[in-house]
Amino acid sequence: MMAEITVMDFNAKERPQWCPGCGNFGIMTALRSALAELGIPPHMSVISSGIGCSSKMPHYVRTYGFEGLHGRSLPVASGIKLANHKLNVIAEGGDGDGYGIGMGHFQHIMRRNYDLTYIVHNNQLYALTTGQASPTSQLGMKTKTTPYGVVETPFNPIASAILGGATFVSRAFAGDTAHLKEILKQAIKHRGFALVDVMQPCVTFNKLNTYEFFTKRCYKLEEQMPKHDIGDRGQALEKAFEPEKTNFEKIPIGVFYKTERATYEDTLPQIKDKALVDYDVSDVDISGAYEDMI
Ligand code: SF4
Repeated sequence: MMAEITVMDFNAKERPQWCPGCGNFGIMTALRSALAELGIPPHMSVISSGIGCSSKMPHYVRTYGFEGLHGRSLPVASGIKLANHKLNVIAEGGDGDGYGIGMGHFQHIMRRNYDLTYIVHNNQLYALTTGQASPTSQLGMKTKTTPYGVVETPFNPIASAILGGATFVSRAFAGDTAHLKEILKQAIKHRGFALVDVMQPCVTFNKLNTYEFFTKRCYKLEEQMPKHDIGDRGQALEKAFEPEKTNFEKIPIGVFYKTERATYEDTLPQIKDKALVDYDVSDVDISGAYEDMI
């Protein structure tokens, strides 16, 4: 009989090097709990990340992991999924990583609908490099690179994901780990590309978007009356723009949109029924292919 999977199974040996009070701790705690409650054994999950404070996550959650290049967590995650689509694959990164340098990957992976969970630690600036403006920095926000305030309209990841073909689009707050855990569980269980954009306070460099800022402004979509319909794309888009329309006075969190569509893996006949890693290739001679390349 298999032993019950607990949160302790996901505790890694390495201790987090984040600043005390960083929102990344809440995301790590929620992710460990979500994996334990879903009963997914550590060896069946892979976390791929890019570069940034958030991207250290593969070191701190005991699953398989890969910390790669800046903005490249999604291509690595999709490669892992293609090699063995039986694995639970989670991509992680920050807003600069995913919505800046990784933007092209974000858009194309959404329309392909890989069965992946993408967690974006959205702290609204580049934190590892000590606080420069990122694509999601609020208008007027003063940072090291914008001493007179941000003048560019912030990128809206929720609206972009709804329009870009993501089949599960959600937002959570790192200060509410119980709610975040439930959103992560839904995202991981969803078959298709699931975005979880997490409002993550950076206590060291972002003095605007603090825990207090989000606690006052975030409200849960599932508690709204009339009820938010997650199958209604129009309603989801309306909610996606609410922060901008209210000058960030109202920030909806929860599941904005969910739909069903064939995944990329489902549509590939070579892996539809059998993972690539399960094919016997012991008698395949690839030496000719190599010679053709040189
Ligand atoms: Fe967290 Fe900001 Fe410190 Fe990075 S710099 S570990 S995001 S608080």
